[in-house]
Amino acid sequence: MKIAFIGLGNMGSGIARNLLRAGHQVTAFNRTRAKAEALEANGAQVAASPAEAAHNAEVVMTMLADDRAVEEVVFGGSGIAESMISGAVHVSNSTISTALARRLTAEHTRRGQHYVSAPVFGRPEAAEAKKLVVVVAGPETAVERCRPMFDAIGRQTFVLGDGHGAEPWTANAAKLCGNFMIASVLETFGEAFATLRKAGVQPPVFLEIMNTLFASPVYAGYGRTIAENKFEPAGFALKLGLKDVRLALALADDCGAPMPLASLIRDQMISAMAHGQGEMDWSSVAQTSARSAGL
Ligand code: NAP
Repeated sequence: MKIAFIGLGNMGSGIARNLLRAGHQVTAFNRTRAKAEALEANGAQVAASPAEAAHNAEVVMTMLADDRAVEEVVFGGSGIAESMISGAVHVSNSTISTALARRLTAEHTRRGQHYVSAPVFGRPEAAEAKKLVVVVAGPETAVERCRPMFDAIGRQTFVLGDGHGAEPWTANAAKLCGNFMIASVLETFGEAFATLRKAGVQPPVFLEIMNTLFASPVYAGYGRTIAENKFEPAGFALKLGLKDVRLALALADDCGAPMPLASLIRDQMISAMAHGQGEMDWSSVAQTSARSAGL
């Protein structure tokens, strides 16, 4: 397929490389051009603007930081909305608000284009190794057209809506609640390790016990990171983790569903930001509990 890929950060670079490996024709754009040029060796063409990347593409895939970045790339000057051909599909992998996913659905539909939300679970290593879990929602025909792309970037694809084409924003809702659950794992490890360290019990054996009880790559990976206090380089920056918790709270507010634990985690992350941890891995939120315990 002819794909425009926009946003070659920690996640996007691995995803785009896997699309190239699967034989797709990729034109890449990144705000910092050098990251797009790094893909030339893998066979990508480099475009000078999002519009230029998108003007010929059957599918435009975006993997950008946040709502603002997506809005700029889609609706800004030289944005993709004006240059995508009629019938082309915009697939957004970013973790964005449900409100923006609704707006993207409306604006692309108005222009005779399609919009599919396809946020992903998995860290940059998983993106590189084609092991992402992809959560998809959108019009059924557009989703089916893009399925080879999802197969190329992940180990499993979940399509919401039982084959009837769920509204794209529902995939973003699932992603935000999933990230809230991962954030709560980070917070519980932070509190448990702080308490154990205060009590003079070292984390490694405790971590082994927890891995026996909660056999999950999320527990194993983040437990180790937090036990070793190894928060740099960031796989997922804390400032982006805070963005996701805030987006989950916005969704909860919209639906009238309180998320008291998410509110607590947001405050713990704000404290971590105030201590200069925005560019550290989001698991460094555990340091907030350590500091509160005087460690
Ligand atoms: P990242 O490394 O910070 O990359 C962000 C990308 O967005 C870069 O290509 C950046 O361009 C671009 N960007 C930011 N602001 C922009 C703007 N105003 N205009 C144009 N481009 C802009 O972030 P990431 O870790 O790859 O995450 C990307 C998305 O995936 C986020 O929504 C994140 O929540 C989600 N996600 C991340 C992970 C993870 O573990 N990292 C896992 C699942 C989902 P520059 O290179 O020029 O800065």
